[in-house]
Amino acid sequence: MHYTEQNQTPLQDLDKTHARPEIDRGPLRDLLIASLYDTTIVWNSNFLELHKEGKGWNLIFENETTAYADIVIAADGANTKVRKYITNTSRIYSGVTIIEGNIYNAVSNAPNLWKLTNGGKVFAHWNGKTIVLSAKGEGSLSFYTITREPDLWVKSSGIDFTDKA
Ligand SMILES: Cc1cc2nc3c(=O)[nH]c(=O)nc-3n(C[C@H](O)[C@H](O)[C@H](O)COP(=O)(O)OP(=O)(O)OC[C@H]3O[C@@H](n4cnc5c(N)ncnc54)[C@H](O)[C@@H]3O)c2cc1C
Repeated sequence: MHYTEQNQTPLQDLDKTHARPEIDRGPLRDLLIASLYDTTIVWNSNFLELHKEGKGWNLIFENETTAYADIVIAADGANTKVRKYITNTSRIYSGVTIIEGNIYNAVSNAPNLWKLTNGGKVFAHWNGKTIVLSAKGEGSLSFYTITREPDLWVKSSGIDFTDKA
C-alpha cells in the first residue's frame, strides 16, 4: 500500500482543527530556553548523587558544587541517575532496536533522498521492520531503522557502526 501527502498544500492556519505544526528538537529547545531567566539553567553541572537532608534533598554535582531542593525532577534521560532513589525495578530492553544516522547537507550529499522527503518524512513498514527518513530544518536528513533484535544485538551483530560506508 502506498500513501502520500506529498501533493497536499501544508495547512498554514495553525488554529485549524487538522493543523499539525512540526518543529525540530533543536530549535524547540532553543525557544524554550530563551523563555527562561538567564540564571534558571546552571550549565556544566553533571549530576552525581543526592541525599535526603531535612525536608528536602541535597544534590551533588561533578564540578563539586551542590544545590538544595524541596523537589527534584529528574530530566537526565532514559538512563537517569535518579531512578535508583525512586525504584528498585531496573530498566528492561523492549525488544526493539533503533539505529539512527544523519546525513548533513543532504541536498548535495544525498540529493535523491532529499528530494524524496520533500521537506517531510518517508516511512516504509514491512514484516515488523521500519525504515524512516526525515528532513530537518537545517538541511540534514536523519534516518532510522527500527527492527526487533535480541538484547545486545548492536554489539553481537558484527556490524561495524564506525564504518560510515
Ligand atoms: C531515534 C529516536 C527517535 C525518536 N523519535 C521521536 C519522535 O518522533 N517523537 C517523539 O515524541 N519522541 C521521539 N523520541 C523520543 C524522545 O526523543 C525522548 O522521549 C525524549 O527526548 C526524552 O526527553 P527527556 O528530556 O526525558 O530526556 P533527554 O532528551 O534524553 O534529555 C536528557 C538530558 O539530560 C542530560 N544529562 C544526562 N545525564 C546527566 C547528568 N548526570 N547530569 C546532568 N544532565 C544530564 C543529557 O545530556 C540530556 O541533555 C525518539 C527517540 C529516539 C532515540
